[in-house]
Amino acid sequence: MGTLNLPRKVSVLGSTGSIGVSTLDLFEQAGLELDVVGLTAGRNVARLAEQALRWRPQVAVIEDESLLPELRERLKGTGIRTAAGAQAVSDVAAADAQWVMSAIVGFAGLAPTLAAARSGAIVALANKESLVCAGPSLLRTARRAGGMVIPVDSEHSAIFQVLDPKAADQVSRLILTSSGGPFRDATRAQMAAATREQALAHPNFSMGAKISIDSATMMNKGLEVIEAAYLFAMPPERIEVLVHPQQIIHSLVEYADGSTLAQLGPPDMRPPIACAFAWPDRLPWPAPKLDLVTAGPLTFQHPDPAKFPALTIAKQALAAGGRAPAAMNAANERAVAAFLDRRIGFLDIPAVVAETLERMDRTADRTSPDDDAVESARHTDAEARRVADDIVSGLCAA
Ligand code: NAD
Ligand code: MG
Repeated sequence: MGTLNLPRKVSVLGSTGSIGVSTLDLFEQAGLELDVVGLTAGRNVARLAEQALRWRPQVAVIEDESLLPELRERLKGTGIRTAAGAQAVSDVAAADAQWVMSAIVGFAGLAPTLAAARSGAIVALANKESLVCAGPSLLRTARRAGGMVIPVDSEHSAIFQVLDPKAADQVSRLILTSSGGPFRDATRAQMAAATREQALAHPNFSMGAKISIDSATMMNKGLEVIEAAYLFAMPPERIEVLVHPQQIIHSLVEYADGSTLAQLGPPDMRPPIACAFAWPDRLPWPAPKLDLVTAGPLTFQHPDPAKFPALTIAKQALAAGGRAPAAMNAANERAVAAFLDRRIGFLDIPAVVAETLERMDRTADRTSPDDDAVESARHTDAEARRVADDIVSGLCAA
């Protein structure tokens, strides 16, 4: 095990979030000696400073510029550089780390993730929204720069581990598993009345607020279907979703010959992070191991499309292609924010997304095919946000 070829220079984008904290915890538990190039956060300046004192990055970046004086104060005399703003986050992503964890939430993660890909680093991708909004371009950028995108999302990590790229055309189905979220066994009427607290209470994981709500609507699985289609170059009709409440089997690959390969593990994000860190090696660390005797029985069911319309919406957006996935993502971010602000009801979330896509379908796409992918995704994102906000305002007035 002394000959592992592990990255040494690393950056963690979104270090203060659920995935960022799990990443640094994994480093700690594995006893890794790392040169941390950069740590970045959105607003959590206290946690960022605490992490910087422990990991001694070259630079600590806070996206919210109003918090820079506080960050400076907290890191005074340490020799750690500080910076603020979205451009500074992308600059850290572009710096010379060999491995970059992309764990910012939402569309805000796209520019930094692309910057990391352009630098030729290995990009450990948790920020699924960037793939949904500009997947083909992101993957092409990484390939051209001599780098690689390795998925951290547990389902995609599972498929990445069991899908033999040489046999990709002999795959008959990818099966993504889902916990079913907090409303797996709820009625539609209960979902219509669901509170913020009920929707945030994920059965197996403690995650950021946005992905928790996405799990409750199953838009998370919708985003993941699109993510899988891009990552594994798989047509939409060969990607299926199954509800698997125990979250032990993280996903499966079914081959044409009738053999199905699955990847298993306890519901914990550190193993997929470890996989993305050490690939193609395996990182030794005191990992919680799966006990099959106490884990079972493992159960599976089809998701109910009437309760989880977001799944159908996402599949349609993927099939429509063009700007539809980015528009869907933006509308979902706004609808989730409005629900978290208690401005709209839980079932309004997929309704706002569907209505946004319908309205945008009726307006011309003003981006030209020559626009660079980020520019056109940014354009679509801004327009979809306006449309979704307008629909939300209408719902609030009603
Ligand atoms: P989180 O909300 O806990 O953390 C998000 C991080 O991004 C924080 O560090 C925050 O400070 C930072 N951030 C927020 N807005 C920002 C902005 N505008 N600019 C720069 N930084 C900003 O979210 P999370 O649960 O850690 O999820 C992060 C990403 O990983 C999401 O895309 C999510 O879908 C994906 N993911 C999460 C999990 C999980 O278990 N939490 C699993 C799979 C995938
Ligand atoms: Mg996932």
